[in-house]
Amino acid sequence: MAAAYLMRRVIYHPEFQQYNLGAEHPFSPLRVEMVLDLLKEWGHTPEFSSPQEVGPDELETVHDSEYIKAVEAVSSGKAVADIGKYGLGTADNPIMKGMASGARKIAGGTLLGAQMLLEGSARKVLQLGGGFHHAQRSLAAGFCLYNDLALAINEMIAKGWHVAYLDIDVHHGDGVQQIFYSNDKVMTISLHESGEYIFPGSGWVHELGRGMGRSLKLNLPLEPFTEGESYMEVVEKVVEEALYWFKPDALIVQAGADAHFSDPLADLMLTTQDYERLFRKIFQLSETLCNNRLLITLGGGYSFQATARIWTILYKMFMELELPETLPDAWRARWESRLKIKIPSNLHDPNPAFDPIPRKAEVVRANRDLIQRLMDAVAADWL
Ligand SMILES: [Zn+2]
Repeated sequence: MAAAYLMRRVIYHPEFQQYNLGAEHPFSPLRVEMVLDLLKEWGHTPEFSSPQEVGPDELETVHDSEYIKAVEAVSSGKAVADIGKYGLGTADNPIMKGMASGARKIAGGTLLGAQMLLEGSARKVLQLGGGFHHAQRSLAAGFCLYNDLALAINEMIAKGWHVAYLDIDVHHGDGVQQIFYSNDKVMTISLHESGEYIFPGSGWVHELGRGMGRSLKLNLPLEPFTEGESYMEVVEKVVEEALYWFKPDALIVQAGADAHFSDPLADLMLTTQDYERLFRKIFQLSETLCNNRLLITLGGGYSFQATARIWTILYKMFMELELPETLPDAWRARWESRLKIKIPSNLHDPNPAFDPIPRKAEVVRANRDLIQRLMDAVAADWL
């Protein structure tokens, strides 16, 4: 009988850093490097499980072979005609040498997480990378090349599991939703800022799934300036209900950190305290409603200082370690000088973290209306 701590695994490999879209690109590998450097500064040496790169055969369970060929070719410096149709060579998805093998290594990490849960060598896995939820079958989009999440989900459903996918990134998890749109073994739940305001512009309540997959694809397009309290109401009233009804064999979570109030690419208002509450809820839901099997990946998060703190909180909570109050001066100084940014002195945000939001009551009302519309829409199918 394995000791309890062995049932928890963290996946990482330095080659994840090869998925680098350029020094000016927001999807920076430095965000994870900051977390690892902070743990080191605290004297904590994490134990990582190392993945293999996935090969083309494995990628073909999710992506078209022509697309994979194009990604691999441009990434090794070869010219490919008509790369625009694959979403490659854009500002969001620039072509960088070596990006494909970095993406395959990361996809291997998320896949390894799925395999650990399947074989029972872990009950909880934290993959310190991945979460490429915008990648589609034949299209790179929103900083994503290969959809590691879909690969992990495929691995699980191939073994007969029912999988719930929860996406807390501030952007709609469109790629994962689309790949499993008519699949009745996969429930996707995406909480995001409304597509009326941000990329990718989808993720509406009426996108419920098709055929056998109907009422298994849930979208919560939240109002801009949604605060933690209203966000948690959505989690309790919709996510909890959905998992209770679906009874998945495992829960996969894309834990983007871009719903933080300081994120430059979006307008939700979560604080680090809200993230702590949200992570605690996710652990609890996975234990009670998802057969105690959980795989968490990272995702978006474009404020360096907030993302590093949020993922550090995630790591510490995952490992059941105490959350320190302050951040080490040496670590702050190092990253302030490297990134030319200001880093707060505490792990958590100040309380209150921002001035009162003028439209607060209106936002809460609109989100409640959203919960109602979604629950009404699925009611007939969830009997
Ligand atoms: Zn995002």
